[in-house]
Amino acid sequence: MQRIGFNQPYGLHDAAVVHQTKTMTRRIITDVKAIQCLNELEDDGNLDSAYAQIILEKYAQYNVDEVLAVKLSGIDIFRQLQKRYGDSSDAALGFKEMYQGMAFWTNKMFTPADLCPDHILITHRHIERLQDISNEDCLKEGVVSFLDIISQEGTEKYEKKADAIHWIEGGDDTHGWADQGINYCEKCAEKEAKKMNKGLEEELYRAVYSYAGGNEEDSSVFCEECGKPLLYSCLFTYLDDDLENMCLDSMCDLYLLEQILDSDHRDYAIEKLARLAFASLIDKVSGKGTWQRNPWVVVYSFKLAN
Ligand SMILES: [Zn+2]
Repeated sequence: MQRIGFNQPYGLHDAAVVHQTKTMTRRIITDVKAIQCLNELEDDGNLDSAYAQIILEKYAQYNVDEVLAVKLSGIDIFRQLQKRYGDSSDAALGFKEMYQGMAFWTNKMFTPADLCPDHILITHRHIERLQDISNEDCLKEGVVSFLDIISQEGTEKYEKKADAIHWIEGGDDTHGWADQGINYCEKCAEKEAKKMNKGLEEELYRAVYSYAGGNEEDSSVFCEECGKPLLYSCLFTYLDDDLENMCLDSMCDLYLLEQILDSDHRDYAIEKLARLAFASLIDKVSGKGTWQRNPWVVVYSFKLAN
């Protein structure tokens, strides 16, 4: 039995075998001769010809109606057995005793097919270029899991690095009242207030800085002085612009994205970002520049066959 692997750091394994939201996978055609033939068929407008079908049959790794074992590391199989039969069940502990320490315990590349607990059935396959993917197919590739995971990771990073919003109250007129003030990080707010208070004797006019956490903002907020990212709740006033300009490699954008995915705008955002997400996902899984290169791929549809 052949095996197939799905990336777990981006949630694709679970999307395929647990949630069954991933029902498609694209595998890049690397054979030089096949690529040459496909390029020629494309130039001649003959991609529908019987010859293209021959290339598919010759170079596709998996067949329609074929059942594949889904690769899983030994330790993950052990955890699955614990979940299913109990932490100290014979099934789980027996498995651990027998296989712990073997190469596949931590690396699913080496797991024998007959030990892999999950299987999929290939239901359809065809060849296309990577960028021919439709919005609907991006969703079938598992981009929702991907977006959820990267936005959560980005938010964790952002929250570690960011400061609460700080405002300055009093001082001169330019700063006004706290809730209309300029946004600062704590350090810059303290510095700025000190500067404003220099030489001021009157207690009444002294500038003070205050914490304004959980503030609602239209869009991303940074310290006006040093540019440090600040914590905020987004009001989604510029939702379309934010989605249009979303960069999935930017920690600041991912912090905003998590708030969007957590709101009533979730489905709308996923629809808008599906293609961008798939391009980003494929570059992370298959190497930077893969999306841009637009290679030929075999598109497989599948369903869980446990
Ligand atoms: Zn600052």
